[in-house]
Amino acid sequence: MQDGLLYCGKCKTAKQCRVHILGNERVVSCMCQCAKEKAEEEDTERRKQEDADKIMRLRSSGIASQAYRGARFEADDGKNPEPMRTLRRYADKWDDFYRENIGLLLYGGVGTGKSYAAACLANYLIERKIPVCMTNLSGILNTVGGFQREERNAFISDLMQYPLLILDDFGMERQTEYALEQIFNVVDARYRSEKPLIVTTNLSVAELKNPKSRDHARIYDRILEMCQPVNFGNNGRRATIASEKMKLAAQLLKG
Ligand SMILES: [Zn+2]
Repeated sequence: MQDGLLYCGKCKTAKQCRVHILGNERVVSCMCQCAKEKAEEEDTERRKQEDADKIMRLRSSGIASQAYRGARFEADDGKNPEPMRTLRRYADKWDDFYRENIGLLLYGGVGTGKSYAAACLANYLIERKIPVCMTNLSGILNTVGGFQREERNAFISDLMQYPLLILDDFGMERQTEYALEQIFNVVDARYRSEKPLIVTTNLSVAELKNPKSRDHARIYDRILEMCQPVNFGNNGRRATIASEKMKLAAQLLKG
C-alpha cells in the first residue's frame, strides 16, 4: 500500500495506524476490520456463556427439587388450562406484580399441577436471570432444626433476598408448636420484606379462613393478605391417571 502501513490480506483494511506521541509520529498495530469483528463475536459468545452459567447456578441453587428444574410453560400438557393461563399472565407481568408486591396462593386437590405451574413460573423468571427460591417448609424446618438462633436468622434473611419465594406444599409439614413458630417466622419475615410470596397448598381457601388454632391463624392471615388465590380445582391429573389405570386393570382382569 502507498501509505506504508500493513494491510490485512483477508479484509483489506489496515492492521496498523499512525499515532502522534509527544510530537513524534509512530506506527502502531491496530485491529483490522475482520479482527475487530472476530473480537466482538468472541465477546458476545463469552457473555452468552456467562449468562448460561448464571442461569444454571440460579436454577440449581434456587429450585430445591430436581424434578421441577425442567418444568416449562411451553411443555405443559394443557390438562388444567385456566389456572395455567393465570400463571403465564403473572409471569408476563412479573415486573408489575413484583413492584406491587402481589403473590399467589395456588390451591386445589392433589395432582392438579399446582407445583408444576409454580415451577414453570420459577424457571421462566430464572431464564430471565431473576433469582427465585422454590422450596418447602419441611425442608426449611429440617435445615433450621439444627441451627442456633443466629444461624437461623441468617438463613431466613437469605431467603428473603430472593425477589420471589415459593413455598411448595404448604400445610404438609409437621404442625408442632415449634414448627408453627418457625413457619410463622418465615412467613412473617416475607411479609415484612415486602416481596412477593407464592404458596402451593392442598388446603382450601375456606380452611385457611377458618384456622384450627391461633398459631395457625396468624400464619394463614399473613398468607391470605399477601397471596391472590388461584383455584386449580380438584380433578387432578393423578386422579385421572389413577382412574384410567383402574379401567385398564378392569379390562385386563376381564380378559
Ligand atoms: Zn482483516
